[in-house]
Amino acid sequence: MSVYTKAKFILAAEEYVHLPPDTGIEVAFGGRSNAGKSSALNTITNQQSLARTSKTPGRTQQILYFQLDEKRHLVDLPGYGFAKVPLSRKEHWQRFMEEYFTRRKALRGLILLIDVRHPLKDFDLQMLEWCDMNNLAVHVLLTKADKLSRGAAKQQLLKVTPEIKERCAKASVQLFSSLKKTGLEDVHHILNQWFEYPEKEKLTKK
Ligand code: GDP
Repeated sequence: MSVYTKAKFILAAEEYVHLPPDTGIEVAFGGRSNAGKSSALNTITNQQSLARTSKTPGRTQQILYFQLDEKRHLVDLPGYGFAKVPLSRKEHWQRFMEEYFTRRKALRGLILLIDVRHPLKDFDLQMLEWCDMNNLAVHVLLTKADKLSRGAAKQQLLKVTPEIKERCAKASVQLFSSLKKTGLEDVHHILNQWFEYPEKEKLTKK
């Protein structure tokens, strides 16, 4: 059992002003649609129901808050491929996200999900740029690593990592697979640090 299995949905918002009070620590999850964000959130929290919440019609363009405890939240950012979105939606998203990245004091870091086979599209570059501009920690999960052979996945990690660091020097990058649970410990480790869990709580809290 980990602290992440306790995650529960508390709120969805489409405007910055509707977010919960800006206190405690939150970690945001962002990615183009289909990058594997819902699957990753499920795997990280060991819960099937979180993904259902994210996929509820009308919710896909909202920020979703999942509470771990009163002071700690996982935040699911709206994600879609840029090309398919009408300009007005894109502009709204752009403003909302920019405000979120710039103003949100509770935001400790971004977990950015990128399909290992399709790295660094416009959406990803925009996210990396915001993190860089706001000096925000970012950890990239190259998702669906099981779709490549081990060797090819490793090659891709070596190729993409410097390209990411070029945009955001402090970014860290790993391979991840929700299907095989590859890299789960590594991402838990990052989250534990960002959420400042005391050493014993990380291992024992039910
Ligand atoms: P989201 O739109 O970013 O939330 O992406 P989803 O989590 O819904 O995943 C999109 C598609 O990719 C679904 O068909 C998933 O089953 C598939 N998928 C997600 N993660 C993995 C993975 O680790 N391995 C494989 N093979 N497929 C995955």
